Amino acid sequence: MDGVIHTRRAGDFHGVFRSFCIGFGAALLCAACGCRIPAAASGCSVDDVTRGPGLAPGRTISFGGGRAAGGRDAGPCDAWHYLERQVSLGPRNPGSPGHRKVREFIESELGRYADKVQVHPFDAVYDGATYAMANITALFRSARGGERPFILLGAHFDTRPRAERDPIPARRLTPILGANDGGSGVAVLLEIAAVLARRRPPVPVMLAFFDGEDCGTSADSMFLGSRRFAGEVDTSDVRCMILLDMVGDADLDICVEGNSQSSSPGLVDLVWTAAERLGHTDVFHRTVRYHILDDHVPFIERGIPSVDIIDFDYPYWHTTLDTLDKCSPESLRIVRDVVIEAVFSVSSSDTEHLP
Ligand SMILES: [Zn+2]
Repeated sequence: MDGVIHTRRAGDFHGVFRSFCIGFGAALLCAACGCRIPAAASGCSVDDVTRGPGLAPGRTISFGGGRAAGGRDAGPCDAWHYLERQVSLGPRNPGSPGHRKVREFIESELGRYADKVQVHPFDAVYDGATYAMANITALFRSARGGERPFILLGAHFDTRPRAERDPIPARRLTPILGANDGGSGVAVLLEIAAVLARRRPPVPVMLAFFDGEDCGTSADSMFLGSRRFAGEVDTSDVRCMILLDMVGDADLDICVEGNSQSSSPGLVDLVWTAAERLGHTDVFHRTVRYHILDDHVPFIERGIPSVDIIDFDYPYWHTTLDTLDKCSPESLRIVRDVVIEAVFSVSSSDTEHLP
């Protein structure tokens, strides 16, 4: 485990990950959040992940950024409202009433803001059953009217069907509310949609709400939506990918995720520089802390520069305690502002495709 957790405050999580790995008898990877952590204690090492195919540096892209870009002026933030609304729908695991309702809610909100909203339905199997799932995308044209290539901003909207890490054993088959794990990324993306409707970005932006990130306990039942989307997208249409996952923790500390750093150092620098310009060095730390497999990995594997913005120091992860009171409006606002600042610091280009 020490090979995975590189820096400060590691103590609590050593025990957490080790017990989790042993609990599942994991031979290779710990299941997490749809995120998977390589676990030395269960026979694998960080190198299994960081040297895997596709996790080498992706194509080099020029962001032309570095200048102040207006993230500080993004306006009032409604992300908390979006989070409350999601949690009010109950658990949002595939097959549940909340899953259907949150999908309708996301589509409805995007319809107010985006130039194009698309639903990409698919069926997926996990735990021996077939579930109807769908990714939802929303395109925002650039100030020049371009539609491609776009910056892809992603988050998963499904929530975990079981609270396998709950401190109370009787609750470990209960679906979670997923205020932070599932709700927070969607809340920030919907709020970003509202900002982009008010201010055209310098380059096109596509928001992607992924389904089926958090279903399973093995690689073939995780990242179902993102893997499907990454497999179908024309990679020349995607400048880069920024993923938001577990960004609502009231005690927010976002370290650099290791696979993002090894594959996409230029994009990591763009985002962390944006955070520094906004004065959020107390939240965004330049240190690599975890190597996490999450919805960004399918894009890295296709050579698209990708970064996972995630705070994995969250004691309520995959428990019934992942509720609104563990999150804060301020955390959502900080992440929104940093992502807006990063997006608006990317230079437009003459290669943009007009509709
Ligand atoms: Zn999760």
